[in-house]
Amino acid sequence: MKYFIANWKANKNYQEMKDWVERFKKIYQSKKDVQTIICPPFPFIPELKKELENLENVYLGSQTISSFEKGSYTGEVTAVNLSGLVSYVIIGHSERRKNFAEKDEDLAIKVNLAKQYQIEPIYCIRDERDVIPQNIKLLAYEPVAAIGTGFNEAPDKVVAVKKNLNLKEGIIFIYGGSVNENNVKDYLATGEIDGFLIGGVSLDPERFYTIMC
Ligand code: PEP
Repeated sequence: MKYFIANWKANKNYQEMKDWVERFKKIYQSKKDVQTIICPPFPFIPELKKELENLENVYLGSQTISSFEKGSYTGEVTAVNLSGLVSYVIIGHSERRKNFAEKDEDLAIKVNLAKQYQIEPIYCIRDERDVIPQNIKLLAYEPVAAIGTGFNEAPDKVVAVKKNLNLKEGIIFIYGGSVNENNVKDYLATGEIDGFLIGGVSLDPERFYTIMC
């Protein structure tokens, strides 16, 4: 199985979201062993769930989750709120670590809450030094210098990092950082990379779909 994960970050207004999904639905054809995960901003999740529910192998994810379970935490979006709406959640993205001071301890709590509510974490690390919680199934390696810069990390370097991590058998290893329709083949050719976390290019449905083809 190969995973293609779209991280829209804080982009798009309501109309742009509608436009994206209309165009995506026109071109999308499900392929055996290819799973698509769309991670939009929170407000678009319920509508996208309805729009995408007939598309085979397409799932929804959120871009983060609260470290509180539920209750009096104004502004938070919790695992309870998201349960039944998303199948995945990105946890530990470097932009959250940097801009929202998320620490390993917070991230471990988020992982446990997500799991408790049947939401599968896509856990991001910036390099080999970041702590990986025990029960992670999908691990995204995202070197900061490659995110949103156009300077993707060389596939052999990514594979070297994977080897250094000594991952447990069965962990799904994802790469993220300036992946596009031209460089994706080089990563796939290594036979070591199970999927991609895609920011900038995922904002365009045709380009995102081309990456998956
Ligand atoms: C990301 O948002 O995690 C990411 C990898 O972004 P980009 O594809 O734009 O580098």
